[in-house]
Amino acid sequence: MPQTDILIIGAGPAGLTTGGALKHVGLNPVLLDKDTVVGGTWQRRYDRLHLHSVRRFSGLAHYPLPHSLPAYVPKNRFVEYLQDYARKFELNIMGETTVKKIRKSSNNEWEVETDGDIWQSKVVIVATGHFGKPYTPDWPGKAEFQGKLIHSIEYKTGQDYAGKRVLVIGSGNSGSEIACDLAEQGAGFVANSIRTHPPVVPRNFLGTPVQVFGILLAPIPPKIADYIGSKIARVAMGNLAPYGMKPADWQPFSAHHIPIIDVGFVGELKRGKINIRPDIERFIPTGVVYVDGTSEDFDVIIAGTGFQTGLPELIDIPNVLDERGYPAFPSGQPTAQPGFYFMGYTESVRGHLYEANQDSRRLAKIIQNYLNS
Ligand SMILES: Cc1cc2nc3c(=O)[nH]c(=O)nc-3n(C[C@H](O)[C@H](O)[C@H](O)COP(=O)(O)OP(=O)(O)OC[C@H]3O[C@@H](n4cnc5c(N)ncnc54)[C@H](O)[C@@H]3O)c2cc1C
Repeated sequence: MPQTDILIIGAGPAGLTTGGALKHVGLNPVLLDKDTVVGGTWQRRYDRLHLHSVRRFSGLAHYPLPHSLPAYVPKNRFVEYLQDYARKFELNIMGETTVKKIRKSSNNEWEVETDGDIWQSKVVIVATGHFGKPYTPDWPGKAEFQGKLIHSIEYKTGQDYAGKRVLVIGSGNSGSEIACDLAEQGAGFVANSIRTHPPVVPRNFLGTPVQVFGILLAPIPPKIADYIGSKIARVAMGNLAPYGMKPADWQPFSAHHIPIIDVGFVGELKRGKINIRPDIERFIPTGVVYVDGTSEDFDVIIAGTGFQTGLPELIDIPNVLDERGYPAFPSGQPTAQPGFYFMGYTESVRGHLYEANQDSRRLAKIIQNYLNS
């Protein structure tokens, strides 16, 4: 049975920044990751993707993204940076190692069962990400649809859909960017079915990245921050109601949820290349019926319907997950179980990578104290 002091489960950005922060305080974690390469989650994402958050606030702990990179880093350059980060801190990453179960061991440490071993560790940090399991709802009639149905995680480029009638279901950042990519790359017809209308903000406002406004406004009362944010969005985007976008059903600061950061969606919407549709009632062999009773035919349907964490299957430890299967404790802070922590689950308008960087620095000190106590 391999033994160590600190095990990090997952070597994505959250696991890596935790590894770097721990190395920085003189600790030497082992990282287990099921992937074959560092940065695999980013490498596999769609071709058009650039970081939505700005370079300056997207680097990992103690080793920023290089200034030579553009303000919004293309995904492949971000993958190179993650790999460089792992080398810089000489992180001990064991790839192609899938963790199956985490439980308490008889001596009050942690037992981590992988596909090959059972590890024993004093400290375990779970950093397997928000996006572990693609989620596609069980729409009535789904199995009868004769076109192609994929999850957004399988989408690579709009070139594959030139001339096709495509429906994107969902209104997250991925769904909106995919709808935009499809429109730009010559899909025959693009519709975007939206159940809950999101706020849409520009990536830059008056030459300043909108993420900077997120960071500056985060400390003030959420209602006031939301009010300012919605005014900025209105000035920058105009009134989107004539194009089918309803007033937002939620606001970023009160909901702790990232708005749609516009990277071309609004332009395509205004050009009439993206057509907003209501929620789906059911699938039919040729397409869908919407909740308003209208129907439309499609060749391809892309479900931008999100992910589940996969944590309930992974973690066999009481009182650390909530009813939705999310961590019941903030990332980078102690949980109900001494020596057991989460990293990378903070969702905020300041950006996931920004929060992971901050959380990992704090967690490194907490773990240092825990191991010395
Ligand atoms: C399309 C898209 C764009 C985004 N853009 C930005 C952005 O611009 N700025 C920003 O701040 N955030 C962005 N995010 C959010 C977030 O920063 C990224 O999703 C980021 O990759 C999350 O890092 P993570 O380490 O928490 O999770 P992941 O990147 O998902 O990494 C988790 C790691 O855990 C491993 N793993 C999972 N389960 C197991 C297991 N059972 N055993 C072993 N290993 C396991 C995986 O192989 C993976 O390497 C974006 C997200 C998406 C989906």
